[in-house]
Amino acid sequence: MIKMAGVDKFFGPLHVLKNVNLEVPKGQVVVVLGPSGSGKSTLCRTINRLEPINSGTIEVDGQPLPAEGKELARLRADVGMVFQSFNLFAHKSIVDNVLLAPTKVRKVPSNEALEHATELLERVGIANQAEKFPAQLSGGQQQRAAIARALAMRPKVMLFDEPTSALDPEMVQEVLDVMTTLAKEGMTMLVVTHEMGFARKAADRVIFMADGEIVEDSTPTEFFSAPKSNRAKDFLGKIL
Ligand code: ADP
Ligand code: MG
Repeated sequence: MIKMAGVDKFFGPLHVLKNVNLEVPKGQVVVVLGPSGSGKSTLCRTINRLEPINSGTIEVDGQPLPAEGKELARLRADVGMVFQSFNLFAHKSIVDNVLLAPTKVRKVPSNEALEHATELLERVGIANQAEKFPAQLSGGQQQRAAIARALAMRPKVMLFDEPTSALDPEMVQEVLDVMTTLAKEGMTMLVVTHEMGFARKAADRVIFMADGEIVEDSTPTEFFSAPKSNRAKDFLGKIL
């Protein structure tokens, strides 16, 4: 579903992604771990072309990502993204946030879009908040709304970049629960997180990045019980 081959990314002189090769089959849940500054966010952002790459190729569902144009907009819609900051439109109701992209970008008829939006808000447990504005919701509810909004485009892949890092501790689990359900339903997911419980329970695979490289690629059990590299051992020593 995702295929990155020989991907390099520079910010000026800074080599942020170094020959990244990564294939994620359909339905797989990949947790990306690594120290701050190792390139995890950049990795996510290149997958839907929020960041251009300097060399290599990226394919989503067998389609190479074009650099720009209409085709890019269509392919980008296949990749849902949820950020640390919820990025909801403050002046629109929750349901309007969810409706916007499908009606404007995918040209889904409004009654059909509304039906789907309602179903998604139910799935993430905030159907009763549909008419409210983002500021009237808790952080956990806002992040669940952001997940519903991403799902409204019927993406083939969901990218999560530290989706719970900005939340008060008591709201982390409700967001992880929605993500776990999505994983069980077979969504292809790439999740940057520091939630090791989620990594252990929901991930099929753990990727450990350091200095722009994929240093380890293993199962959660392997990674947590027997990390191979010193950098991973050092990282785990600090967080566990
Ligand atoms: P992570 O998400 O693992 O913390 P990032 O992908 O955000 O890492 O960043 C990787 C490196 O790229 C860091 O050194 C960061 O400072 C740098 N970087 C990220 N975004 C930019 C940018 N827009 N311009 C310049 N440097 C950037
Ligand atoms: Mg980051």
